[in-house]
Amino acid sequence: MKKHFMLALLASTISCAQETPKVKQVKKMTPKTDLKGIKVVNALDPICQMKTAEYLKDTAVFKGKTYGFCSDYCKKEFKKNHAKYAQNK
Ligand SMILES: [Zn+2]
Repeated sequence: MKKHFMLALLASTISCAQETPKVKQVKKMTPKTDLKGIKVVNALDPICQMKTAEYLKDTAVFKGKTYGFCSDYCKKEFKKNHAKYAQNK
């Protein structure tokens, strides 16, 4: 009885230890957001003051100008208060 158990354990250990072939995919990583090339009028996120050039995740067009934001949250904050933030230049 015990022997059988040990055998089964050994068998499962062996199958687990099988090396999976390491095939590295040489794929070019495409950025999640394709906003890096977009020019925005604000160098800093007006909500949190993060650099839009580095942390650009979302944009909003206000009065013909494209504003950049680090997140959807900041964009929403801007839209709620754009009068306050947009004139802050
Ligand atoms: Zn932000």
